Amino acid sequence: MRLPRFEYSEPGTLEEACSLLAQADTKVLAGGTELLVKLKQKTITPRALVNIKSIPHLDRIEETEDGGLSIGPATTLHAAATSPLVRDRFGLVAEAAAAVGKPRIPYMATLGGNLCLDGRCFYYNQSLLWKQSLPPCYKDGGHLCHVVQGSDHCNALFVADTVPPLIALGAEVTLTGVDGETRMPLEDFYTGRGEEVNVLQPGQVLSRIRIPAPPPYSTGVYLKHSLREAIDFAVVGVALLLTVSPEDGTCRDARVVLGSVATRPLRAVAAEAALRGKALDEGLVRTAATLAAKETHPVSHLGVSATYKRRVIETLTKRAVRQAWRQAVAGSGSREGWR
Ligand SMILES: Cc1cc2nc3c(=O)[nH]c(=O)nc-3n(C[C@H](O)[C@H](O)[C@H](O)COP(=O)(O)OP(=O)(O)OC[C@H]3O[C@@H](n4cnc5c(N)ncnc54)[C@H](O)[C@@H]3O)c2cc1C
Repeated sequence: MRLPRFEYSEPGTLEEACSLLAQADTKVLAGGTELLVKLKQKTITPRALVNIKSIPHLDRIEETEDGGLSIGPATTLHAAATSPLVRDRFGLVAEAAAAVGKPRIPYMATLGGNLCLDGRCFYYNQSLLWKQSLPPCYKDGGHLCHVVQGSDHCNALFVADTVPPLIALGAEVTLTGVDGETRMPLEDFYTGRGEEVNVLQPGQVLSRIRIPAPPPYSTGVYLKHSLREAIDFAVVGVALLLTVSPEDGTCRDARVVLGSVATRPLRAVAAEAALRGKALDEGLVRTAATLAAKETHPVSHLGVSATYKRRVIETLTKRAVRQAWRQAVAGSGSREGWR
């Protein structure tokens, strides 16, 4: 498949990028591992692309004064996965970055691109020729969903691997446009609408990702299940940040975030509430996992049935709690925020 024609620019500053992006029908290009595929399939045909990798310092990872991290969106997933700053205290983010389309994709793909990933759908991520054989769906401007007959909205799945761990850690993003900057929790960046996955407006760039210092006595895990293991999207991804009381070993706080189960990343709030304030034992692990599977309502999609997805949510949540708990008991063995 050949790329369609488009105008191309490499701005030297964020301001320049924003004013180029404010022009009609212009898209940000980062690693291109998603965008260029869509261009080849003619899923989208923008008039112009603005390559943000040419902007100096947008690929930096820096410690912030309050002990957190500030990561530029053009940081490659490989750099995020191998940076000692990320690995040592935010290991679940490093694990997720390494798991994106491994082994090749992380060398080109960026963290910002992963956060801005569009929803995926068997009927949408296809060539124009293939799609023209069916009526257009909501995501293509039509009035139906091919995945869920009778649905009043698009059911494209949100599958980006690095997002659940970043939400579990309470990350924030900065959006920069011609009118200035907006800062928001990453959790609020997603709309839950498959048609328009995030709140980015034309002319805006996701310009920074900030992760606060993890709470004391906390430890984190990201587990992903995919069908092929290599170069494959998650069937389910589970991120867990577990904070333990140093006095009696009970769970002080838990944040469980699921990926690839809905049109947005989902907090498993019932599972979190079940864990909070309790002594961790095998019964509690099972209860939390059952709740996580029950409170999500996946649809059968991308070759995976809803029943199978629920089973995977349950299994991965169990494994994640057990693993985080083991790390917590080992104390210094955990890599995020144990002090
Ligand atoms: C074979 C294959 C396997 C894959 N496997 C996985 C996987 O396992 N897990 C997974 O999560 N993803 C996977 N992907 C999807 C994709 O490669 C990754 O999500 C990647 O991180 C996207 O980053 P990128 O820099 O290449 O984004 P690009 O392709 O450059 O951009 C993606 C989208 O984000 C927008 N964008 C990028 N950066 C910004 C920014 N800073 N501000 C505003 N908008 C921006 C672009 O305009 C575009 O709409 C896979 C892709 C392929 C082709």
